[in-house]
Amino acid sequence: MTSAVAALIVAAGRGLRAGADAPKQYRRLGGVPVLCRTLTPFLAESRIGTVLVVIGAGDSARFDEAIGHLPETARMRLATPVEGGETRQDSVRAGLEALAAAGFAGSVLVHDAARPFVSPALIERAMTASAEHVAAIPALAVTDTVKRTDTTGLIAETLPREQLISVQTPQAFAFQPLLAAHRDAHAAETGGFTDDSAIMEWAGHRVATFAGDPVNLKLTYAEDFELAEQRVTRPLVTRTGTGYDVHAFAEGDHVWLGGIRIAHSRGVTAHSDGDVALHALTDAVLGALADGDIGSHFPPSDPQWRGASSDRFLAFAAERVRQRGGRIDHLDLTVVCEGPKVGPHREAIRARIAEIAGLRLDQVGAKATTSERLGFTGRGEGLAALATATIRLPEPE
Ligand code: MG
Repeated sequence: MTSAVAALIVAAGRGLRAGADAPKQYRRLGGVPVLCRTLTPFLAESRIGTVLVVIGAGDSARFDEAIGHLPETARMRLATPVEGGETRQDSVRAGLEALAAAGFAGSVLVHDAARPFVSPALIERAMTASAEHVAAIPALAVTDTVKRTDTTGLIAETLPREQLISVQTPQAFAFQPLLAAHRDAHAAETGGFTDDSAIMEWAGHRVATFAGDPVNLKLTYAEDFELAEQRVTRPLVTRTGTGYDVHAFAEGDHVWLGGIRIAHSRGVTAHSDGDVALHALTDAVLGALADGDIGSHFPPSDPQWRGASSDRFLAFAAERVRQRGGRIDHLDLTVVCEGPKVGPHREAIRARIAEIAGLRLDQVGAKATTSERLGFTGRGEGLAALATATIRLPEPE
């Protein structure tokens, strides 16, 4: 059963620390309001049924101006905004109450408007986590050494880093428990929570974590805006990568091609699931990034990749592009084999590749050919795939 998912975007803060005349969620990055950038990936996720923004008192004109930058189809998906309160906690509660009043049940992703670099993949991870946990939050390992200071500013203690994480949004919750926790905290006049998972902890729930995204920066200080501005305005350069992969046929009754299981009189010899299409595509993307190859990131000697479903390899490569501030424009695939027949599966393969890489269908080409009974593919000893990836990356500084 799939349950409903809502996204609650908290945009009620005044954002004074960022040092401008407008609250930071309405400032522009590369000419586009921060709020608009934040909303775009949530509005593009068809499994999110409701996208509700909590705005500050008196900000409705700013809100209308900001969402004017969205395409009409996206704008039509937005719920009527709700006015927030004094604190972030009050604002989230106002949003939850509005969802409750509309009869919402399901899970809710709570996200700060000041994180405009939230990626489709991170939203996907939050949605997956929300199906499995009452509360789950994106977490990153802490790489800096963390110390505690005393009241004079001198170091009091060096904290053990292994158990420390830093957390982000979107945070994912079962709706009813989160609403109940917020209502209870409000009734108990317990405030000062800086995120919703802290309220769930206070209410006695266990909070799970999933992988955060280092690119998912929170814009807080003026310097953050400078960095973000550089990120969105740096010119992109087009790069092309190629990939090639072969697997030998072996005993078996199916092969994997482009993430689709295809019944066949043979299987393949492989450490993973032996999906030549996804392996070639992964290498093409990594090639365009000049970032090693599938073997360097997923060594065959590492037992954890034994029998692995190859979709994770391509998803990893696509995420590396996003982490570099780039985008994939196009993936093209050619499968070479005498059998199985690929044609009947071509559209399913294109759709699956698009899904794994976070692309539209028209950004994925897939073709198949035989090799006229010549060579190892012609003799039916195995199958091969060639791939090309066209990506854009920010120009190096
Ligand atoms: Mg391979």
